[in-house]
Amino acid sequence: MRVGIVDCYVDEPSILGVPPYISPYPRYAYGAVLASGNEPVYATVDDWRNKSSVWESVKKCHLVYIVGGALVPGKYLRTMPASMNEIIQMTQELQGTKIIAGPVARYAYTGRVKQPLEEYFEYIARLDGDALLYDLLTQKSVNGRRRTKKEWEQWAILGARCVQHAHAFPEGVIAEIETYRGCVRWISGGCSFCTDVLFGEPVFREPQAIIQEITEMYNSGLRNFRIGGQTCIYSYMAEGIGETETPRPNVDALSKLFKGIWQSCPCIEVLHLDNANPAVIAEHEAEARAITKLLVEYTTPGNAVAFGMESADPEVIKKNNLNAVPEQVIKAIEILNEYGRKRGANGMPALLPGINILCGLDGETKHTYRLNYEFLADVVRRDLWLRRINIRQVAGVRKEFKMKFKQEFQHFKYLVRTNIDMPNLKKILPERTVMRKIYIEMHEGKHAFGRQIGTYPLLVGFPYRIELNKFVDGIVVGHGARSITCIEYPLDINTCTFDALLSVPGISKHLAGAIMCNRPFRSIEQFATFLAEHMDASMVPAICAFFGFRRGN
Ligand code: SF4
Repeated sequence: MRVGIVDCYVDEPSILGVPPYISPYPRYAYGAVLASGNEPVYATVDDWRNKSSVWESVKKCHLVYIVGGALVPGKYLRTMPASMNEIIQMTQELQGTKIIAGPVARYAYTGRVKQPLEEYFEYIARLDGDALLYDLLTQKSVNGRRRTKKEWEQWAILGARCVQHAHAFPEGVIAEIETYRGCVRWISGGCSFCTDVLFGEPVFREPQAIIQEITEMYNSGLRNFRIGGQTCIYSYMAEGIGETETPRPNVDALSKLFKGIWQSCPCIEVLHLDNANPAVIAEHEAEARAITKLLVEYTTPGNAVAFGMESADPEVIKKNNLNAVPEQVIKAIEILNEYGRKRGANGMPALLPGINILCGLDGETKHTYRLNYEFLADVVRRDLWLRRINIRQVAGVRKEFKMKFKQEFQHFKYLVRTNIDMPNLKKILPERTVMRKIYIEMHEGKHAFGRQIGTYPLLVGFPYRIELNKFVDGIVVGHGARSITCIEYPLDINTCTFDALLSVPGISKHLAGAIMCNRPFRSIEQFATFLAEHMDASMVPAICAFFGFRRGN
C-alpha cells in the first residue's frame, strides 16, 4: 500500500523542521512505513499549496500521515509552516484514512488547538505518530504509544532516504538529528513552562546509531546536518542522571559520536548543534572545556548552542524552577568564548553561545526587565560574544501564564535590539568580513535575502536582487540589529548591475553611471586608473578590493 506522509513543517525548541531544515518526524514515519513493508510517498505542505504532481499521488493514498505544528514560531524566509486552517483544508482533498501527528496533535490535548481534530482525522497521535502509523499498518489497531529504542534506530536509518525528496535537496537542505529525548532535570519537574521534561527519564540514542543514520543520508547525497534534537548537548550520556540536575558530561561518548561522524562522512559541509544547559557547563568546568574544544574541532564554523537562561531575576528563577543562575550563565559564556571565537573559512566564528530570554513567567515584575537588561549589558561590558539573543513571550502549553508587563516587554526588546544586538553583531562580523555560501531565499522589493545553511543562520540582506535558490559569497557592508547587509564578493566589474555598483561604499550614483558607460574594463589596473580620474585617489584601493575581474569579459 502507498502511504502519504505530508510534512507540514514542525518548529519546536529542540526540533527544527521548517526548510531549510527537515525534521526527524517525517523521516521516522517514512522509515516506519518501509519497516511495515509498505511504500511511503513524501510530500510537503508546499506540494499541497502548489498542487504539485506529488500531491496528486498523496491524494490517492489510502492512508495519509500529516505531521506539523510550530510550537515556537520563528522568522521564516523560504516558506511557512502550515497553519491549522491549511491543515484542515488539506484534509478535504484526501480520500484515505488520516492521521495527524507532531506538536499540532499534542496541542490538541492541551487545549491549545481550538478546532476539534476528531472531526477531520481518524487518528490523533498524542505520543509518537510513527509508532501509531506502524501499528496501524501492521496490527490494524492502535492504542497510541512511544516508539521503542530499537524501532527508533531502525526507522531513523530506514527513513534517512526521505531527505532526497526534500525541496532544494541536497545543497539547500539541512537534516535535524536527535541524540536523545527528555531532560536531565525531570527529577525536579524541570522549568515551569517546559514540555520536554514531561517525557520523563531521558532516553539516549547510541553514538553508532546516530552515526549510521547520518551516514545513510550522507550516502544519499546530503552534506548538511544539525545535531539539534536534544535538551543539552553537554548532557549527552552524562554520568549521574537521575541523581543530580547537573550530571557530569561524558567526554568519551561525545568524542566517539563526533569523531565517528567524520570518519564515516569525511566531506560533510555543515555539522552544527543546538541547546546546552549553562549550569551543566559551569558546574563541570574541566569536562565542559574538553567538550567545547572537541565541538570546535569536530563541527563546522558558524555553529551555536542556545543557552536557555530564560531570566536573570532570582525570584523568577526560583518560582519557575529555572535551570541556571546568572553567574553560571556568565561562566558558560566565558568558556565558549575562550575556544569558539576563531573565525572559520565561511566567515563566521567557530562556536558561540546564544541566550534565550523568556518573558511572562511566574513571579515576573517590572524589575525583572531591568535585571535581564543589566545581565546582557554585563555580557557586552565583559567583551563576551553572543551568537544571538532570543527574546520570546512564554507560551502557555504546559500551564497558563499571564503576561502582565506588555509595555515593559516591548521596551526591553527595543533596548536589547538597539544597544546590545547591533554592537554585538559588529564585533562578530566586522565590516568587510567575507561570508561564504549564502543561499538566496527571498526577494522583497528591490532586495534579496539569504542565509548560510546552518544553525540559527544570520539573515543577510543584499540591496539588490540576486537569482533565488543559488549560493553567493558576500562581503559585509552594514549591520542591522539582527541582520547584516552584504554585497556579492567579488563583484564582477563588467557584469554587475547598477544597483550592485551603487551598494559599494564610496561609489556615488554619478560614479556608478560613469562606470556603466565605460565598461568593459580590461583589467583591475585599468579600472583603478579610471576610478582615480573620478575620485580621491587614496580611496581607490579600498573600492577596488570589492571587485573581481572575470577573464574573457
Ligand atoms: S532545562 Fe528546563 S527548559 Fe531546558 S529542557 Fe530542561 S526543563 Fe526544559
